[in-house]
Amino acid sequence: MIPSSSPAFPLPPAVLDALRQLLGDRLVTSAAVCDQHGRDESIFAAMPPAAVAFARCTDEVLAIVRLCREHRVPLVPYGAGSSLEGHTLATQGGVTLNLQQMDRLVAVHDEDQTATVQPGVTRKALNAALRDKGLFFPIDPGADATIGGMCATRASGTNAVRYGTMRENVLNLTVVTPDGQLVKTARRARKSAAGYDLTRLFVGSEGTLGVVVEATVKLHPLPESISAAVCAFPSIDTAVQAVVQIIQVGVPIARCEFVDSVAIRALNGHSNTGLPEQSHLFFEFHGSETGVREQVALVQDIAGEFGGERFQWADTPEERTRLWEARHNVYFAALLLRPGCRSVVTDVCVPISRLADCVNQTADDLRQSGLLAPIVGHVGDGNFHVQMLIDGGCADELEAAEALNARLVTRALGMDGTCTGEHGIGLHKQAFLLEELGEAPVALMRQIKHAMDPHNLMNPGKIFAF
Ligand SMILES: Cc1cc2nc3c(=O)[nH]c(=O)nc-3n(C[C@H](O)[C@H](O)[C@H](O)COP(=O)(O)OP(=O)(O)OC[C@H]3O[C@@H](n4cnc5c(N)ncnc54)[C@H](O)[C@@H]3O)c2cc1C
Repeated sequence: MIPSSSPAFPLPPAVLDALRQLLGDRLVTSAAVCDQHGRDESIFAAMPPAAVAFARCTDEVLAIVRLCREHRVPLVPYGAGSSLEGHTLATQGGVTLNLQQMDRLVAVHDEDQTATVQPGVTRKALNAALRDKGLFFPIDPGADATIGGMCATRASGTNAVRYGTMRENVLNLTVVTPDGQLVKTARRARKSAAGYDLTRLFVGSEGTLGVVVEATVKLHPLPESISAAVCAFPSIDTAVQAVVQIIQVGVPIARCEFVDSVAIRALNGHSNTGLPEQSHLFFEFHGSETGVREQVALVQDIAGEFGGERFQWADTPEERTRLWEARHNVYFAALLLRPGCRSVVTDVCVPISRLADCVNQTADDLRQSGLLAPIVGHVGDGNFHVQMLIDGGCADELEAAEALNARLVTRALGMDGTCTGEHGIGLHKQAFLLEELGEAPVALMRQIKHAMDPHNLMNPGKIFAF
């Protein structure tokens, strides 16, 4: 584990009293709840806040932000707590603002294909509410994350290759800024050229520039026809080469996921998938019946050229749900390969033409390192993850994992890629952000942060030191 370094910010009694008055028993200071909010799946030791405030409405968020600002108390917005790079750790103590109880679906405009939601609505809850409307919200990080958290991390997932990420799917946000103002960034029009794009300033800001209290997102019509399949390949290289070809010939594939043989072993143990322990691609096709048939034929041809065999189809909704639930569970399934272990998860993304090189070189590196680590990825986007399963108490293993992560990032940057395709910077990737963008762009980010949050109260210590 990486030990916590900063001392917790003591909460002034006046703030505690005012928060208690505002929230009653929705202000919690118990060690268990604070500890749970001060840890995540990352390798950092817990950094708990002094208190957790559970807000139920925008007025409460406004009051909490203004109070914290007045007393210079750090404030960490919190959704489902599923982020992976130390995003929610309370580096300076203070208050964590849990938004899960702001979970109202505010409006669905079927004819415009948009939904306006409070930040605590989760992606699964939103899709459950849309079930009868013939619409869906496609962004699906493996966890059942909140829409507020997904905006803040610029999340994506298995559908991004066809439908885009949160960057493309958020139309407007209502945000409580660090100085306690309520700001709506845009209207509901599909596009706008009105001034600076504040929506996209907040999307990906990791809770450092304000608290999202409402979001309007794009919805998409449920496709007339859906088909899904898994296909085994003789090697990592052949599977990835097939993906590159599929993307390059322009198949409008909805999902195209790589799962290596170690991850398949984990899935077989956890989800009883019964797949051969080889590299696999998981596919999903959306469109008209004819369109899906054409996509399937093309993909089968390409897969065949690269030795892909044994297409197993999941045609009913139940079979498809089982397939994708298994894929989404791969993270937790992998943890069972080494009971009691911790994960160091990487998240690079490269231009598709460099994907095969990047994955192959990484697989070689991994073999030499001796670490146990499945490789999975949203490879249709050029994005993949290595999940290194280490003994959290073993400094040597942690060092080896961190060194492999650093080499992978350097490799991806050398291919004009990025140190994070979807998980974000948080605490863990700050040095890589600098390596990726250089001094001037990061200095500009600091200037924006300073202009909006001069006392550095909103999720301090994330994205960059300030
Ligand atoms: C098993 C597993 C699989 C995953 N797979 C993916 C994946 O495929 N793709 C992907 O993108 N991510 C993935 N993730 C990471 C994670 O699910 C995403 O980062 C997600 O967007 C986090 O949402 P959350 O609600 O859990 O936010 P949290 O973890 O609670 O918070 C994340 C960040 O957002 C800020 N925040 C939260 N709510 C708000 C708000 N209302 N206003 C302002 N800031 C806020 C927090 O301060 C923090 O900086 C995965 C995680 C796990 C555990």
